Amino acid sequence: MAKEELECSFCGRKKPETNLLIAGLDAHICDRCIEQAHGIVIEESKQTGNAELSAELMLRKPKEIKAFLDEYIIGQEYTKRVMSVAVYNHYKRLLQPPSDDDIEIQKSNIIMVGQTGTGKTLLAKTVARMLNVPLAIVDATVLTEAGYVGEDVESILTRLLQAADYNLEKAQRGIVFIDEIDKIARKSDNPSITRDVSGEGVQQALLKLLEGTVVNVPPKGGRKHPDQKFIEVNTEHILFIAGGAFDGIERVITKRLNMQAIGYSSIKDDNVDDDNILQYIIPKDLKDFGLIPEIIGRLPVLTHMDPLDANTLRAILTEPKNAIIKQYKKLFAMDEVEFSITEDALDYIVEKAIEYKLGARGLRSLCEEILTEAMFDLPGSGETKLNVTRTYAENRLNKSTLKKLKAVS
Ligand code: ADP
Repeated sequence: MAKEELECSFCGRKKPETNLLIAGLDAHICDRCIEQAHGIVIEESKQTGNAELSAELMLRKPKEIKAFLDEYIIGQEYTKRVMSVAVYNHYKRLLQPPSDDDIEIQKSNIIMVGQTGTGKTLLAKTVARMLNVPLAIVDATVLTEAGYVGEDVESILTRLLQAADYNLEKAQRGIVFIDEIDKIARKSDNPSITRDVSGEGVQQALLKLLEGTVVNVPPKGGRKHPDQKFIEVNTEHILFIAGGAFDGIERVITKRLNMQAIGYSSIKDDNVDDDNILQYIIPKDLKDFGLIPEIIGRLPVLTHMDPLDANTLRAILTEPKNAIIKQYKKLFAMDEVEFSITEDALDYIVEKAIEYKLGARGLRSLCEEILTEAMFDLPGSGETKLNVTRTYAENRLNKSTLKKLKAVS
């Protein structure tokens, strides 16, 4: 065929009428048809998005979700179960076919109460990884009411959009983890605070997001200003997970438990486990702490984190899929150094983490302190083995380093 007789096999345009004509085996396609076809592909994938999601998600039943969480998170059995069910139900809700029975499955936003370093963020991260959805981690302490210095609550959605590479569909099925939710508790008991900059006003602003609404989000963040283009984000299918330490809430719980006990038999229930008071938490305790009832209502799944005991800390060091010790093994292996650590060296690290109240987060800092010198010296030295014993660890960690670690934790 002569060059000028070539034509697009889809629209019939002759080559001179096109900007580009691409040859296939027996056919040709022009630039316009490529663009049109591309548009169709995008549209189709939007429509089948739900189907893909269902294939991806519905394969995982609560037990499988829990099994996945088990690979990364030690202990926290109760929360892992609650979370598995909540996540499962949330995505069932998302995938429900339209029906006319008027039964609308409500959102299962989650609130986790537990000391810092007990794995709240890790849980949220792991769930997001498993579901392959974007995750935004935000700190409630930086949020303020519109008009005050700080970030508007919409900034949460800017983060989520960023985490989703600005893919709106993905962002709208993502997860938002709001850390330190306890810090925006109402402080009305405190007379010195006249303007409630970070308290109830922020809770009110959060409400809308939690229950599902369409929000104008400045895609690059920052304050709203008239000439910035907004992206409309619908929060209906976004799963919100809130976490907080709620320091002092144990007193609220204990008081309630005592009152209940008095109501019934005038003695405190002997079965109460004083080492883990959080396990008895109920929504009313959150209200007494200063969360407004509407917020509590929109975080209907309430769960607690168990404190980390020595056994748990010990397991955190070695057992999770990406356990700290496994990471060091890998790091040293890259320099052809075979890294090992004795049982009593591990015990020592746990002892110090407990003694200095460093929690799980401290395990990593302790290991860094113990291993930094070796990580500096060994590469390129020809050494092929490093065995860390208790004495080695003790020598590396002297009192002043421990004090330093405590200060930064
Ligand atoms: P939180 O959000 O409750 O303050 P994080 O999830 O940030 O705590 O935990 C801090 C670090 O401690 C995590 O990176 C993780 O390595 C470790 N960690 C804490 N709890 C656990 C746990 N239950 N299982 C495994 N690792 C944990």
